[in-house]
Amino acid sequence: MVVRETYSPAETFELGKHLGEQAKPGWIFTLVGDLGVGKTVFTQGLACGLGIDEPVNSPTFTILQEYHTGRLPFYHFDVYRIADIEEMEEIGYDDCFFGGGVCLVEWADLIEELIPENAFHVTIEKDMEKGFDYRKITIEGMDEL
Ligand code: ADP
Ligand code: MG
Repeated sequence: MVVRETYSPAETFELGKHLGEQAKPGWIFTLVGDLGVGKTVFTQGLACGLGIDEPVNSPTFTILQEYHTGRLPFYHFDVYRIADIEEMEEIGYDDCFFGGGVCLVEWADLIEELIPENAFHVTIEKDMEKGFDYRKITIEGMDEL
């Protein structure tokens, strides 16, 4: 498990970027954290590290947003609005999870049974006692950055 503390959006972005630069085909991240904690900032950093030059935002109204302008394909899932696991089949999620790209899944606990064993689990948390811009970022499944 890797734990990093950040004190600004830029630092969270940099952490995501570093991971994007390291990412290998087949890497899957799950991403958990309250609204406004920095999930999109982290994801934008990851996309930047993959060399993606398009704007990256929360998918929200689409379950899957794909980016193909980077070093590897990037698949950004937000499964919050998924009603049934079969919707994932319809989207063709397995081509994303097992197709040589990099995936990031928000609200992954809703489709837990589909998440591969080797996924990295990223959690972002606030701690108001440590300041408004403090974030603790935990990456389970990773031993070092
Ligand atoms: P989410 O996608 O989790 O809802 P966003 O990434 O859209 O959250 O927004 C995070 C907000 O928190 C932004 O306004 C960002 O500027 C702010 N922020 C403050 N400190 C940090 C930090 N250390 N890391 C990430 N974002 C931070
Ligand atoms: Mg977001």
